Amino acid sequence: MVEEGLLERVPEEMLAETEERMKYEGLWAHFWCRWGLGYLLRRYISQANAHLRLGVRADVAFERGGQVTVRGSARVCGGASSVQAQADVVILAVPAPDAVQVVQLPQKVASIMSGIEYDSRTAVALFFDPVLQEPVARAFQGLAEVSLDIHSKEELHLVAWQNVKDRSFAHGEIVRLVVHSANGISLDGPGPALEALAGMLQLSAALLEHLLLDWKVVDWKTCQMVRPFESLQTDLELSEPALLLGDSNGSIILAGDYWCQSSFLGGFCSASAAARQALASLRR
Ligand SMILES: Cc1cc2nc3c(=O)[nH]c(=O)nc-3n(C[C@H](O)[C@H](O)[C@H](O)COP(=O)(O)OP(=O)(O)OC[C@H]3O[C@@H](n4cnc5c(N)ncnc54)[C@H](O)[C@@H]3O)c2cc1C
Repeated sequence: MVEEGLLERVPEEMLAETEERMKYEGLWAHFWCRWGLGYLLRRYISQANAHLRLGVRADVAFERGGQVTVRGSARVCGGASSVQAQADVVILAVPAPDAVQVVQLPQKVASIMSGIEYDSRTAVALFFDPVLQEPVARAFQGLAEVSLDIHSKEELHLVAWQNVKDRSFAHGEIVRLVVHSANGISLDGPGPALEALAGMLQLSAALLEHLLLDWKVVDWKTCQMVRPFESLQTDLELSEPALLLGDSNGSIILAGDYWCQSSFLGGFCSASAAARQALASLRR
């Protein structure tokens, strides 16, 4: 994907130190998706010839008579409609707190999964008039991210300058900044982010508000996993990072980064393990 220009590896020196991602050389590789993550996913799906349905929430999954049934609700105009699907194998790749809600788990597994923890954060996306490009470029000094709470604990943690990621600096480009809150801080508007940016850019918050074209707040209740399975005291032993439930014909497999590591690598390892288990189950 790097060779095809779909992904671009970010020089480490452009990234900020964050509490989730320490900058030991070579420990992390951070990539930007040239055309956005949505484009990459659509590409994967079309190459895999898979049928993708978005906007469907699984409410319950259960095994009966060698088949797994999943019931859920799909977002439709003005409400939700019920959906149901059946399969020989279902891989449930949702965060641990959601998996506990969807599947009736053996008591021991449910209690282990309840010990897996996530942090919570707010991300505030801010879109500014292009005149802000110059002060922003001055403040970022060639970086893509700046940590706000490196010296003391603050409500806000990190600012990322999105234009750097796709090199959209042309005259008249809208300035896109994303401000992340610290762990446990919930924000419902752009106010605190504008205040923090005002300090960083040495401009008044009122001026920034005037230049603000649009904003979006994502209050991320179940954000990054901070306590994985491997850090829990348990006698449950997994030979690989996915859990096949039951031993009858129809199988539900629990997959997710929480079985190993909070990263795309962790997600990939669990997905590979789940795919192996699904194939073995289908061949039985
Ligand atoms: C702010 C942030 C920054 C991160 N940065 C990096 C990074 O730079 N590098 C890196 O490697 N990793 C990063 N991570 C971690 C990485 O995103 C995760 O480790 C990875 O996405 C986990 O993959 P997953 O498939 O296990 O779960 P997820 O990606 O969380 O996918 C689970 C999906 O299940 C859906 N879902 C939940 N409940 C239901 C339900 N009932 N029915 C249907 N769908 C449901 C959710 O909407 C979600 O789409 C970051 C995470 C966060 C939160």
